[in-house]
Amino acid sequence: MKGKKRRVKSIVWVIVAVLVLGVLGGFGIKAYKDYQKEEAAKKEAARIKKLQEQAKLSKDQISIEVRGTYNLKLYSAEGKVTWSSEDAAVARVDEKGVVTGVSAGNTVINATYLKKKYPVKVTVTMPRVMQDDGKKVVYLTFDDGPSPKTAQVLDILKNNGVHATFFVTGIDQKSASLMKRAVDEGNAIGAHTYTHDYKYVYSSEKNYFDDLNKILNHIKEVTGKETKIIRFPGGSSNTISRKYSQGIMTKLSKEVLAKGYQYYDWNLSSGDAEWPAPSVASIAQQATNTKQSKVVLLMHDANAKQTTVDALPQIIKFYKDNGYEFRTLENSDIISHHHINN
Ligand SMILES: [Zn+2]
Repeated sequence: MKGKKRRVKSIVWVIVAVLVLGVLGGFGIKAYKDYQKEEAAKKEAARIKKLQEQAKLSKDQISIEVRGTYNLKLYSAEGKVTWSSEDAAVARVDEKGVVTGVSAGNTVINATYLKKKYPVKVTVTMPRVMQDDGKKVVYLTFDDGPSPKTAQVLDILKNNGVHATFFVTGIDQKSASLMKRAVDEGNAIGAHTYTHDYKYVYSSEKNYFDDLNKILNHIKEVTGKETKIIRFPGGSSNTISRKYSQGIMTKLSKEVLAKGYQYYDWNLSSGDAEWPAPSVASIAQQATNTKQSKVVLLMHDANAKQTTVDALPQIIKFYKDNGYEFRTLENSDIISHHHINN
């Protein structure tokens, strides 16, 4: 009886021991697996860190001009590198690391590789041509057309062998083909907005860009050419937009640049926007009242602007007599931006 009891006891102990060992063993295996996992993660982290350390920017600081480009590279990067700009209104960057200066200022371009950021300081400066190189250039600009008056303006430009830039609307559909004639004769077309309706275009960013895209498509359809140059109705300095949306010009002026457009204000006005239309003498006087070497002259070729048409030959004569070269704003280096007031 006693021997049997002892045997049972030992069997129980053996079972307990096996169970305990089994559990401990299980823990051991799990701990070992965890350890292996941790080691693998450590190894992977070390591998990534090494790759990140090997990757090297071609430059960590660049300076380019407005419209100038620079191709940044992240050397030794084996995987995907993504490029981004912290302020696309100052400088843009494409997926290959090509940076384009948009407006004067400072920003940072980041290359992102294996979740690590590689920052490049970017300074964008005005093109040298904007600094006074003494060369006299006049940019004749006409807003609010095309209209039947545009045909007369084109005749005068042609007769004088000079070119101008037209910031157009979509209002007068019957005169739309004059945009094509203007381009065929060597003039430039820019977008002014389709409707020129302050209340509509300045009520929201969406409205503005809907309208802008509409006029851009219209220009492309009629002339067969895309344009990247624009002029805001009322100029970027307008205050009328305050009535419809606070701060909208601050936003729009940055956004158009970030989208790859350039906007042009003027540094001399012919005064012909007033109603009723000023006299020929008044327009000619204001349009030539300057000593600047770079003149972006504001005029209008809406149908009500007969006195502008009549003053144009004198205006052209003045700039010719004073040694100015006539250029269009297309592909020009000049940037004429007003102070933003809203
Ligand atoms: Zn206008």
